[in-house]
Amino acid sequence: APVLFWFGRDLRLGRNAALSAACAAGPVIPVFILDDEGVDRPLGGASRWWLHHSLAALAKNLEAHGARLILRRGRSCDVLAALAQETGARRVVAHRRYEPDAAAMQAEARRMLARSDAELDIVHETGRVAPEDLLTQQGRPYQVFGAFDRALKAREAPAERIADPTFSPPPSWPASEALSAWGLRPVSPDWASQFGEVWTPGEAGAQARLHRFLDEALQDYPENRDRPDRDGTSGLSPHLRWGEIAPDDVLAAARFRRHLEPGLEAQVAKLETELNWRAFGAYLLFHDPDLGRKAARPAYDKIRWRNDPVGFRAWSRGRTGVPIVDAGMRQLWRTGFMHNRVRMIVASFLVKNLLIDWRRGEAWFWDTLVDADPASNAMNWQWAAGSGVDAAPYFRVFNPVTQGERFDPDGVYVRRWVPELARAPAQAIHAPWTLPSGPPDGYPAPIVDLRETRLRALDAYRQALSA
Ligand code: FAD
Repeated sequence: APVLFWFGRDLRLGRNAALSAACAAGPVIPVFILDDEGVDRPLGGASRWWLHHSLAALAKNLEAHGARLILRRGRSCDVLAALAQETGARRVVAHRRYEPDAAAMQAEARRMLARSDAELDIVHETGRVAPEDLLTQQGRPYQVFGAFDRALKAREAPAERIADPTFSPPPSWPASEALSAWGLRPVSPDWASQFGEVWTPGEAGAQARLHRFLDEALQDYPENRDRPDRDGTSGLSPHLRWGEIAPDDVLAAARFRRHLEPGLEAQVAKLETELNWRAFGAYLLFHDPDLGRKAARPAYDKIRWRNDPVGFRAWSRGRTGVPIVDAGMRQLWRTGFMHNRVRMIVASFLVKNLLIDWRRGEAWFWDTLVDADPASNAMNWQWAAGSGVDAAPYFRVFNPVTQGERFDPDGVYVRRWVPELARAPAQAIHAPWTLPSGPPDGYPAPIVDLRETRLRALDAYRQALSA
């Protein structure tokens, strides 16, 4: 009987332990289920764009191996039960999912399949420590990143060999829905028209990015990773989001490079720490399903956020009059991505200077980021708001002008994304309102006074935390 392989956040054929295990058990029917309501929070627009192209790449890759990708829409457990019946499969194999909704759906699928004597075989991701197995000495989840990072590094498992999958054809192929009929790509207006210039979703695109990063950026990564004006980071986050590459494989490749070219110790260590931040987010979400909904420190939900549609609109469109903020928000809109340093700056601006609820920002990012991830996004927004378990203290309010001067000293990043400022002198690029003639034509004056709004935020936070 054929085996169903249920793709989730592991859209790759290479080094996919669960897929290889399925292939070893019999002829495999690969399935992807679009379960927007049950498994995932309805995907944002940029994620849908990515998913479309990633699935197209996966289907092509499977075809080259003599297999097909079967696409179905609906509640995952119902779809799987129906497919098992249709194909006579008695076994479904999938990687374990850790997000609370997806994990619940896997449990439900297992129950439903059992009713018709089929089993769901859940395979643990290689190299990943199960979140329930990583606890403090008191048996509680880690709350501090540093301790989590150390614990994770101490657990490091040697890289496992994973055989490449070999596909043998099943007796027949069930029908598949057409990817184009899912409408994952925007039609009109096509706001994603420039995404394709920046991104190549899919496994091959992920490998290409990884190798470009190792060749060109790893060497200076610790120094350049905070510089939005340089091309200093990997750009792997959307690929990691869909499992086109596993964090484990990124790290193994970096370690191999370190082995070939000694002197990369600090670089690889930094990369590992960043990947562990990603793991920390997933870990926090596992232990706190409300990570994206409620402040991890409850007192922070007493903050009286402002309702400011005009301010929110200016922020989201990149029209706040604060150059580094606008550059970031425009990079996000045009490419589905924003540099990490700038994400921190725009988040701080929304939460502190505009005093708008971090959940509004989280939702905007969810819709517009190609790497939108329920765990990383929520954790980082809570960090920016000060409400996260290991967040910056709330009274540290980023000053976007000094941040810009420090991390984009010549204004290269700002000029790239805010053409109105292309010819502004370097000394004033991060504060064009200080020019004798004011901001250049077409560029707004700042919508807030940075000093006053900082004090307003401190007041609002103090009130909430002392209540
Ligand atoms: P690199 O510097 O090359 O880092 C390598 C990998 O490490 C990244 O791909 C990513 O998986 C991980 N990583 C690095 N920094 C972080 C971090 N702070 N938190 C978690 N993982 C990290 N990242 C997402 O993947 N999805 C999100 O939805 C997301 N939302 C964010 C929201 C805010 C407000 C902030 C401040 C950060 C957010 N991040 C998110 C984290 C970070 O900005 C991106 O992971 C990073 O910019 C991706 O670029 P890169 O792959 O070039 O990073």
